Amino acid sequence: MDEFELISHFFSPLSIEGQDLLTGIGDDAAIVDVQSVSQLAISNDTFVENVHFLPSWPAEAIAYRSLSASLSDLAAMGAVPLWVTMSLTMPEPNTTWLQGFTLGLEKLVTRYDVRLIGGDTTKGPLTISFTVLGKLDKGRALRRSGAVVGSYVYVTGRLGEPAYALTQLAGKSIDDAIFRKLLYPKPKIEHGLILSRYANAAIDISDGLSSDLAHILNASHVGCRLTENDIPISKLLLEHLPVEKARDYALNGGDEYELCFTVDSDKKADCERALNEAGLSYYRIGMITESLDFVLVDSDGQTEGINPAGFRHF
Ligand code: ADP
Ligand code: MG
Repeated sequence: MDEFELISHFFSPLSIEGQDLLTGIGDDAAIVDVQSVSQLAISNDTFVENVHFLPSWPAEAIAYRSLSASLSDLAAMGAVPLWVTMSLTMPEPNTTWLQGFTLGLEKLVTRYDVRLIGGDTTKGPLTISFTVLGKLDKGRALRRSGAVVGSYVYVTGRLGEPAYALTQLAGKSIDDAIFRKLLYPKPKIEHGLILSRYANAAIDISDGLSSDLAHILNASHVGCRLTENDIPISKLLLEHLPVEKARDYALNGGDEYELCFTVDSDKKADCERALNEAGLSYYRIGMITESLDFVLVDSDGQTEGINPAGFRHF
């Protein structure tokens, strides 16, 4: 199968023209209708074999996880995804692998009604890069810099599983439940859309709650008090580990793709009501403070400084 056959067989079916996609895969560039879009959020992410994923993982999971992580950036801005381009570099076109890979893409593209509008295919070490484009209502973007003193701090889901799963890669079957969230994280698009109306800041947890929340604190020039007992820990993790160890993964572990967000006190009730009505989960974990300290308060009221300890490439 040559490059053009590969593209038209696997990727063109994810590029259905119509609605806002005037020309999808097949021409020199895609053409989209932007009439209905007020503001665009645009983000790019690259995933490299042995850095972001292992070549031994199912191709479906490699695709799903990479595109999910990319869409997660749009969720964190409160944007609704519309279009995606994909650069795929691979050593050789293996049709079985590409079938699984395409299935992973298809699941997300269908679920979130996103169109694959184009991309590039090249030979080399397995690397996947997505550019995602999403629409925002004017002035509704969730910036990291918007948190104000007195806001409540939340996360969208229970934490800790993916980071723990990474430590369990050797000697376990990848089908084990503990790997599910690492391999198939869900982008919190529905949360983002609601939060764009109520939250004042948001970030997606890719490096770890402590380090990603620290980005909000730095950008907003505020501090934060987290309540230790309110940090939601994965139930599965609590079955595997003592609570102290599990909490450490929840606080510092990456690859979550949950959102961390802050809501001004006068919008708290409306925000929680809207999330409840939509059946979306949330956990209140602390408060934004004027003091720039970033601290954890335990059940005895003792405070301890938090040292953001997430993943860094360099
Ligand atoms: P060009 O030589 O003009 O760059 P390509 O051969 O790279 O054209 O691509 C042909 C068509 O296939 C283009 O519409 C391009 O957007 C699309 N395409 C190529 N690779 C991918 C990919 N990995 N995913 C989605 N679309 C792709
Ligand atoms: Mg090209």
